[in-house]
Amino acid sequence: MVDKVIPLADHRYASAVPLIPERLALPTGTLSDALARPLRDLRISVTDRCNFRCSYCMPKSVFTPQYDFLPHSSLLSFEEITRLARLFVAHGVHKIRLTGGEPLLRKGIERLVGMLSELRTPEGRGVDLTLTTNASLLAKKAQTLRAAGLQRITVSLDALDDAVFRRMNDVDFPVADVLAGIEAAERAGLGSIKVNMVVKRGTNDHEILPMAAHFRHTKVALRFIEYMDVGATNGWRMDEVLPSADVIARINEVHPLDPMEANERGETARRWRYRDGTGEIGVISSVTQAFCRDCNRARLSTEGKLFLCLFATHGHDLRALLRGGASDLEIASAIGGVWQQRADRYSEQRQAGSDPPKALDGSEPQRVEMHYIGG
Ligand code: SAM
Ligand code: SF4
Ligand code: SF4
Repeated sequence: MVDKVIPLADHRYASAVPLIPERLALPTGTLSDALARPLRDLRISVTDRCNFRCSYCMPKSVFTPQYDFLPHSSLLSFEEITRLARLFVAHGVHKIRLTGGEPLLRKGIERLVGMLSELRTPEGRGVDLTLTTNASLLAKKAQTLRAAGLQRITVSLDALDDAVFRRMNDVDFPVADVLAGIEAAERAGLGSIKVNMVVKRGTNDHEILPMAAHFRHTKVALRFIEYMDVGATNGWRMDEVLPSADVIARINEVHPLDPMEANERGETARRWRYRDGTGEIGVISSVTQAFCRDCNRARLSTEGKLFLCLFATHGHDLRALLRGGASDLEIASAIGGVWQQRADRYSEQRQAGSDPPKALDGSEPQRVEMHYIGG
């Protein structure tokens, strides 16, 4: 049984402690939600802090030096993260992405990478372990991350023009250092490097072609992400979204493209190949072409709350179970119960023009911020 004493949690976002079902069930690796979507992908936010202040994610006006970030005691420890990750893998997760905030700011992150790289799926395979980073510390850490067992990496870079990039990260960080991080990752043997560019109309859309040209002859796969209305602080406006179809049209005009087959169901990026064989790009159209139907992603927040959707209004407090003394079987059964009831499909609903989901108490929902829930 779970102890009644539940540790203090951050009350910014509503959450409930998931019920431990009366009939406990061992994970079978075949969990499905209420819309028949399996659980395959787990994104883990390892810190809510970041050394950048990208305006679309952590605008400086809100995330001031006085901002109340989570205290260290609230964060899941590496042991707690690994314990939960093992249960998620038993339920069918085969891909784990470390994110944040800026994951490389979490002290000893290599140790966590090492622990997660030892997990095995029910079929006995290793998990596909990756990490998304702003690359500010990548040149320094690429080698040790690779040695610890990291296989792949995604770097965020919104422009090649130094002035535009410095303005977007809002801490005057230079492009050259991000590019040096990417090179270090290549040298360290981190295969399959991806670069994510969030496109904001009027801010960096003139950088689409330079970015495409820069990465075209390399092994790096560039992905253009539609600017999303995630969180409540970025002042999102639809007229600042440049639809992925426009991104493709602009590139195709200069460098003809052909569509590629999806690698697997639930893949977020639609991939395109340069007709002349000089590489590929991807577009993530979360706003204009919702892909909820195949969404197989769960998110674990910095303090151990399980979120079933990027736009969920409340989390499921797994840390309370961990620290309350629940057994692996009890926690796995609780996770199973939560996933089986999942019916979230926010982007599809928004596209169809229906109301956003209400919060637990029926009030207008408090949107969860991306740096806390993990991108
Ligand atoms: N700090 C790391 C980084 O920037 O790569 C990891 C965390 S960040 C929240 C993960 C991804 O979310 C980044 O690629 C970032 O560009 C993206 N992102 C953040 N806010 C976004 C928004 N409003 N719309 C679309 N993508 C966003
Ligand atoms: Fe930091 Fe990444 Fe958010 Fe930019 S997108 S503020 S780098 S967490
Ligand atoms: Fe998945 Fe939610 Fe995004 Fe739809 S809106 S794709 S359910 S995270």
